[in-house]
Amino acid sequence: MLLALIIVVCVAVVLLVGFGTFTAVSRGRSRRGLERERGAGTRPAALRAPPARPPSPAAPPGAPVGAPAQVPGAEAPPEVRAPPEAGAPVEAEAPPEVAPLREEPLAEADLVAGAEAGPEVLERPRFRDRLGKARSLFADQLAGLRRRGKLDQQSWDELEDALVLADVGITTTEELLKDLKETARQDNLSTSEQLVGALREELVSRLEGERELHDAGPGVTTVWLFVGVNGVGKTTTIGKVALREERDGRRVVLAAGDTFRAAAADQLGLWAERVNAGFVRGNEGGDPGAVVFDAVQHANARGISLVLADTAGRLHTKVNLMEELKKVRRVADRPPGSVTEVLLVIDATTGQNGLVQARQFTEAVGVTGVVLTKLDGTAKGGIAVAITSELGIPIKLVGLGEGPEDLVTFDAREFVDALLPAE
Ligand code: GDP
Repeated sequence: MLLALIIVVCVAVVLLVGFGTFTAVSRGRSRRGLERERGAGTRPAALRAPPARPPSPAAPPGAPVGAPAQVPGAEAPPEVRAPPEAGAPVEAEAPPEVAPLREEPLAEADLVAGAEAGPEVLERPRFRDRLGKARSLFADQLAGLRRRGKLDQQSWDELEDALVLADVGITTTEELLKDLKETARQDNLSTSEQLVGALREELVSRLEGERELHDAGPGVTTVWLFVGVNGVGKTTTIGKVALREERDGRRVVLAAGDTFRAAAADQLGLWAERVNAGFVRGNEGGDPGAVVFDAVQHANARGISLVLADTAGRLHTKVNLMEELKKVRRVADRPPGSVTEVLLVIDATTGQNGLVQARQFTEAVGVTGVVLTKLDGTAKGGIAVAITSELGIPIKLVGLGEGPEDLVTFDAREFVDALLPAE
């Protein structure tokens, strides 16, 4: 009996000790687990492993062309990408997208729609061939005058009507007639055909001007800004200019500074692909100055000396277009960039409206030259004379069609010969 009691007590002791140890181990495990969980949750963010970056399209400056590119500064917080305007809030944005450059030379076939048909021989378009409509309109207006023979008051009246109808505008027409009357008096002009000859010379001298597109010095990235209202042909012109420069062996970067229309950036991106240029774009509605600034940095880091920057033609916000353009210009002008050309793109078919636009843009951003587009269309041509006479801004380039080759340096003599051929 006593033995049985001793055995029961021993078993009870053993069971109690075993349970205590089990409970202690379990509790210990739970606490460590809890600590681990809490620890992870309370560690300062700075000590956490950095989130995995998406694979970067980056290649260091100097990487071979064709390698994926990276915008310098893209790793930095957004606010350091574009220097803020004094007092202006810094805009936080995602880094702009940069399209890689190709290494292969530009093939003619790349430029021709429907390249399967084989490369096409692309020739510089001539004013004479493309200004057909403007010429026939002007010729019709002057037909009566030319038939008259003698020079009399009716000749002068007919000339005045013809110039106004050709979009030369009232002010410039009056100035032209005054100068021509002086020439007629001095040179004793007696026939209408002599008057047309004098008109030709007067038009050429009024249209003369500097055609050069200027570059900044060595080590500085040249920026040519393209401004103008929507639809005038800015994007197309940038593509055409990029092609000309690339053909001359110069690398260029296109900056999609019209951030207010995603379609504008898409269109410019297509041109960049087509002409083998670099391409930088930002977010829709983002800061256009930041895009141009990034394009300058991108180009400069790779030794590319030219940035062609698109700008908005109309804003979808309350921001004033001219104020926005002034800001873009200031930012683009910061080292290592230098704006050497502000090219105002004008649609020649809009007639005297183009003159109003030219005044506004010139006052705001200091236009250095005009690109007159769509002269191949229904344009009457006289707007060219009005722009140079009234604003003193030279026409540097003209668009003679929609194709990549349809942009030529303006030539006053060739233009007048095409518009008003000598009999
Ligand atoms: P943006 O809004 O100023 O960028 O204008 P776009 O470059 O998109 O051009 C508007 C339209 O004008 C497009 O259909 C172009 O193909 C056309 N265009 C541009 N330049 C010329 C030109 O010199 N001649 C003709 N006929 N069409 C042009």
